[in-house]
Amino acid sequence: MRILVTGGAGFIGSAVIRHIINNTTDSVINVDKLTYAGNLESLLEVKNSERYEFEHVDICDFEALRSVFERHKPDAVMHLAAESHVDRSIDGPREFIETNILGTYNLLEITRAYWNSLPSEQRDAFRFHHVSTDEVYGDLEGTDDLFTESTSYAPSSPYSASKASSDHLVRAWQRTYGLPTVVTNCSNNYGPYHFPEKLIPLMILNALEGKSLPVYGDGMQIRDWLFVEDHAHALYTVVTTGQVGETYNVGGHNEKANIEVVNIICELLEEFVPAKPEGIKEYKELITFVSDRPGHDVRYAIDASKIEKELGWKPAETFESGIRKTVQWYLSNEKWWSRVLNGAYKGERLGSLDGGEL
Ligand code: NAD
Repeated sequence: MRILVTGGAGFIGSAVIRHIINNTTDSVINVDKLTYAGNLESLLEVKNSERYEFEHVDICDFEALRSVFERHKPDAVMHLAAESHVDRSIDGPREFIETNILGTYNLLEITRAYWNSLPSEQRDAFRFHHVSTDEVYGDLEGTDDLFTESTSYAPSSPYSASKASSDHLVRAWQRTYGLPTVVTNCSNNYGPYHFPEKLIPLMILNALEGKSLPVYGDGMQIRDWLFVEDHAHALYTVVTTGQVGETYNVGGHNEKANIEVVNIICELLEEFVPAKPEGIKEYKELITFVSDRPGHDVRYAIDASKIEKELGWKPAETFESGIRKTVQWYLSNEKWWSRVLNGAYKGERLGSLDGGEL
């Protein structure tokens, strides 16, 4: 298959591309605008593969995107490009509306025209996979409740509202035009190559530098954490074997309060890096509670039984094994994250960096 991946220079997109190039015989066309969150240095291990190509294109640019379809003739689309950080959506929602809603609309329309032009066998085999989040469901009140594929949408932030909107567009393009779509809604991801503005990498890197570890509110917001490589595997399973028109929830069965996650990171750092920055006796003393995020959802938790029963996917990592791997990855890959922190990764946007350098 030739798979067009949008947002392939991001955290999850790069894991998907590494998964496809390393574990299958499929080819990938990575379409990415390279916003602050796009980092081609996350793709160094696959960038020289003959089965990998990069297109520096904004999904909101209709003509440029149409030309990508004409030149590469994909068999499937995996749509991950999005503005993805909730705090940024609160500070400035416009880009979320543009990329997540209008960009998805553009992509759907271009895909539909392309799909209509295919010979019937290719039309039947074609898939459009929209990658979304559990945040579209809002938050859960009861401690035993879980999000299922039929939970009503009730997004709380500009980010989740824009993702909910794009999910509805995808569903409508399937119902109205017959476009062969599949949708996945996944819980919080963590793992290697995660941009250091997100909770887990932020805590690891701040602790190593002896900086405070800011935790929103009382830290009791519960998230269901999934190791990013498990998510990449789930997404490939869905695009290759999912049923047209279906939605699959993807989760790790790993519910943890944010404060628990931060405590676990501190304990792992005590084990791996006992020599702490000057003046600090234990990493946990760096934890600082800060004012809560407006509209902050209290609890997310996914019922992932449908994808397990119907497609046979299960996560390989527990939170304990995945977070150990993640902390160890950040400790061994300072070159990757220091170039993100000092902005140097932006100078290498078009992939001129030699793979040997990192
Ligand atoms: P990310 O922010 O790390 O990466 C997004 C990528 O999209 C970046 O490479 C960026 O350059 C690219 N991009 C942004 N705007 C674009 C545009 N207009 N045109 C082309 N490319 C553009 O995001 P992520 O964490 O990898 O998330 C990927 C997808 O998965 C998103 O759709 C997100 O909503 C969804 N998701 C994320 C999580 C999570 O925990 N991170 C959980 C569930 C679902």
